[in-house]
Amino acid sequence: MVLPSSLTLDMALFIFGAVVGSFLNVCIYRLPAGRSIVSPGSTCPHCDTPIRWFDNVPIASFLILRGRCRSCGGRISPRYPLVELLAGLVPVLVAHRFGLTPASAAYVVFIWALIAITFIDLDHQIIPDRISIPGTILGLILGATILPVGWTGSLLGAVLGGGLFYLIAVASRGGMGGGDIKLIAMIGAFLGWQAVFLTILISALAGSAVGIYMMAVRGKGRKHPIPYGPFLVLGAVVYLFYGSEIIGWYLGVRG
Ligand SMILES: [Zn+2]
Repeated sequence: MVLPSSLTLDMALFIFGAVVGSFLNVCIYRLPAGRSIVSPGSTCPHCDTPIRWFDNVPIASFLILRGRCRSCGGRISPRYPLVELLAGLVPVLVAHRFGLTPASAAYVVFIWALIAITFIDLDHQIIPDRISIPGTILGLILGATILPVGWTGSLLGAVLGGGLFYLIAVASRGGMGGGDIKLIAMIGAFLGWQAVFLTILISALAGSAVGIYMMAVRGKGRKHPIPYGPFLVLGAVVYLFYGSEIIGWYLGVRG
């Protein structure tokens, strides 16, 4: 396994990822509205002035313009550079964990898609089919070719994850959304059936903790549903990076 350690490579990976993050911002903003993610170019959310290329440099432009539009001075959400920062870190962290391999490239694309899903779900409580369905198909193709899960693990993961959540949705009469079903199928396709169990476990623990916190501290109850997608994403990413350690620890504890 190649372990890149050079700072230059890390910088190049980060810049590449941050540029993709800029595109993810477009997806997060436009996909739920059913708008094209290709054209027109980015505009200010306040005054609709087209943003010129030198004001659209990931992270840097936000810092230089101090989070304001050059034309109207309207505030630009710090979420834009946050998404770019996260997207930039993804290829750096994946390369350090898994080396520069075809599988690593697949994981990077996977996590980028999960970042877009997370913020769209936080904003709109939906997980767009335009990400999760092609994502599941891509996961199955990559699972059969370059990912360590192999085609059986990938197919089992998608069917098991999607099937399990479908049953929960039927049993709870709508307590589980259709978007979550397709998201766990996508996670299963990329990471395999073992990932499905750990992802659900981790997401349930994290979701319960946040739910209790919201009710206790903020007094929010059932009328303010917390989207579940971001917790599934958290579970999947934790599994991807630490799954083998968690399973090893668990087997060690048991055995
Ligand atoms: Zn503006």
